[in-house]
Amino acid sequence: MDEIKIVKIGHPALRTVSSKVEDFQSDQVRDTIQLLSKIINENDQLDIGLAAPQLGINLRIFVTKIAAAPHRNDLVPDSLRIYINPELEFLSEDKNLFYEACSSLPRTLFGPVYRPRHIIVKAWDQAGLPFTLECDGLLARCILHEYDHLDGFLFTDRLENIRDLIDKEFLAEVKIKFPELKTNKNINIKRINYLV
Ligand SMILES: [Zn+2]
Repeated sequence: MDEIKIVKIGHPALRTVSSKVEDFQSDQVRDTIQLLSKIINENDQLDIGLAAPQLGINLRIFVTKIAAAPHRNDLVPDSLRIYINPELEFLSEDKNLFYEACSSLPRTLFGPVYRPRHIIVKAWDQAGLPFTLECDGLLARCILHEYDHLDGFLFTDRLENIRDLIDKEFLAEVKIKFPELKTNKNINIKRINYLV
C-alpha cells in the first residue's frame, strides 16, 4: 500500500456518500480495515475513531477505540471495534452537547455538536458477522461522528452556528460555561448482540 495519509477537508472523498461493502473477503476491504486499525492503534491517545473516507476510500467502514489516556481518566476504555455497513437502528430523542474535533480538519479546531445521547447501531464485523451494539456516552457520539463520514458529512456541518468553532486553547473556558459537558463522557455499553 502507498503511504498512509489522512485526507483533509476539501478532499472529495470526504463529501461523497460511500458505497456498501459487498465482498467482505476482498483485498480492498481487508486492507482498509488493516489500515484503519493500524492508524487508530498508533494514535489512540489523540483519536477515538476513524472512517474509510478519511483515507480517501469511499467504503462504509469505520473503527472506534477509546483508549485509556491521562485526559480520559474518568472514562471506561473501549477496545478496537470495526463496523462495516453500519445502520443506525435507534437514536434517542434526548441529545447532549459535546465539543468535537476531527483528524480531517485542523487538529486544534473544536466545535459544539448536539447528538442523540443513546443509540443502537447494527453493523458487520471483519469476519462478516452482524451484531448490534447499544451504547451511550462518548462511544455513541464517536459512532455518530464516524457514521457521518460515510455520508459525506463533517462535524462542522452539524454546528448550530459556525461562529461556535474554537481553538483547543479555549476548551477549558467553554467547559466552565457548559457544565453538562462534564457529564457526557461516560461510556455505558448496554448490550452487544451477535445476530448469528
Ligand atoms: Zn472525523
